[in-house]
Amino acid sequence: MARIAWSVCVAHFLALVVSANDNSTSFESKCLGFKPLAHVKQSAVLNRLEYVPAGTTLTFPDSDASCSRPSQLASVDLCRIALYVPTSNRSGFYYELWLPETWNGRTLATGNGGIDGCIKYEDIAYGAANGFSTFGTNNGHNGTGGTAFYQNEDVVIDYSWRALHTSVEVGRELAPLFYDTAELGKSYYIGCSLGGRQGIGNAEKFPKDFDGIVAGSPAVDFNSLYSWRATFFPITGATTSPDFISSDTWKTTIHNEVLRQCDDIDGVSDGIIEDSSLCHIDTQQLLCGYNNSASTDCLSAAQVLKVNTIFNDYLYPNGTLLYPRMNPGSELLASDGLYSGKAYSPSVDWFRYAVLEHPSWDPATYTVDDASLAVQKNPADIATWPSSLAAFQGQGGKIITYHGQQDQQISSLNSIRFWERLAAEVDYDLGKMDEYYRFFRIPGMNHCNSGPGAWVFGQGGSLQAAGIPFDKDHSVLAAIVDWVEKGVVPDEIVGTKFVGDSPTGGIMYQHRHCRYPYRSTYSGDGDPLDIESWHCVYFGGY
Ligand code: CA
Repeated sequence: MARIAWSVCVAHFLALVVSANDNSTSFESKCLGFKPLAHVKQSAVLNRLEYVPAGTTLTFPDSDASCSRPSQLASVDLCRIALYVPTSNRSGFYYELWLPETWNGRTLATGNGGIDGCIKYEDIAYGAANGFSTFGTNNGHNGTGGTAFYQNEDVVIDYSWRALHTSVEVGRELAPLFYDTAELGKSYYIGCSLGGRQGIGNAEKFPKDFDGIVAGSPAVDFNSLYSWRATFFPITGATTSPDFISSDTWKTTIHNEVLRQCDDIDGVSDGIIEDSSLCHIDTQQLLCGYNNSASTDCLSAAQVLKVNTIFNDYLYPNGTLLYPRMNPGSELLASDGLYSGKAYSPSVDWFRYAVLEHPSWDPATYTVDDASLAVQKNPADIATWPSSLAAFQGQGGKIITYHGQQDQQISSLNSIRFWERLAAEVDYDLGKMDEYYRFFRIPGMNHCNSGPGAWVFGQGGSLQAAGIPFDKDHSVLAAIVDWVEKGVVPDEIVGTKFVGDSPTGGIMYQHRHCRYPYRSTYSGDGDPLDIESWHCVYFGGY
């Protein structure tokens, strides 16, 4: 017994010697000695406090399986804090804060997606890897469904804005205390889809939360977006219904016709429609027998009508716009999503549990009256459709937004509509828009990522963060930092397409993404895969 005690004692002594000479160990001690709950004004619960050495693959056994995020690699030494933060007596959110040992003095908040309650660990890891004290929440409920909204408005409020705003308060308090500094540092946000909406919504409601916001493919005008998504099932019908258009037909017959009519508008036959706002499909050309064609690769009249409805703006009966038309060119993924003959479950859940409060509501019965009701009810003020962000702009805030031109879930034409809405408020003064709000269109990108375009530009996630330099030219996150802190304006963003969509495959090509109202324009000669063959050209009209 005595010998064992002595050897333990020696081991402790050696550990102390090592700790005095090893920064990692002292960071570990600092991490494990930190008392976050002493500094959080909400009555939070500490679920985890752990030192995470670089190279660790963290697993998340408590994460809902539907979130499909069982693990995440942490590429730098960091201190991980996981809390549960109550927001009312019947709501609260799970919260992750990753504090990297090498801190760049900034905080970064991350957003969510869909109607889900899933922490985007990949975005937190991206921020931490680049030196940000980075945090995210489950947005007030767990998993990818919306049943938690039912008869609990507090959960809807968390989802709409409160989880993010409260997480900023917590993160802004903890980071300086942890790093033992009085400096708050600059505050940033990154998110896409619902996360894009969260960024815009936060700028509207809490203009002092962030100095810089990256808001991708934003789900703004949220209620109308969810109504538009709800229309597809009644339009397509179920897979067994007469004149249902199969996934194969969308991917071949229709997609090929879309490219035949629109791919060359930009001067290059590459399968990418550079500017989807210029593409208006003449759906009659899909009709069997069109122009006396004997081809059987065609649609029935009833099917053409369905495609025509999908490719045109969604209007109220009085003719006013409800939501813009789908991006032509998005058929490859939309065929297995919104056009699949199944009700789109996030829309179903939003209507059942938040708008109608009718859990057995049948999505096949959706009509424009439901859309009107959603706008009128606007649960937890989720609409996110401001006509001005003057308060955010007035305190020096900057926003970078982007949208894939073949987004299959949120029409990129709605981001033009939103830009126009903000621009109208300043009499279309481009200088005033450029001062705080820059919208980059990403040709050939699907919803938030993937696609044939040059879609990697530092917008978050594991792959998006890898293989490109973290600088203002290649990363929207680095670009927003330079804009906020150095006044370096982001005129263009270089996107990268990797071979096999993997950095290990090497770069296939890079492309210059242009801010609205500039258009990516082919020089007319030169290799289309050469970045110098394209330039951003102002197309006027404003
Ligand atoms: Ca093209």
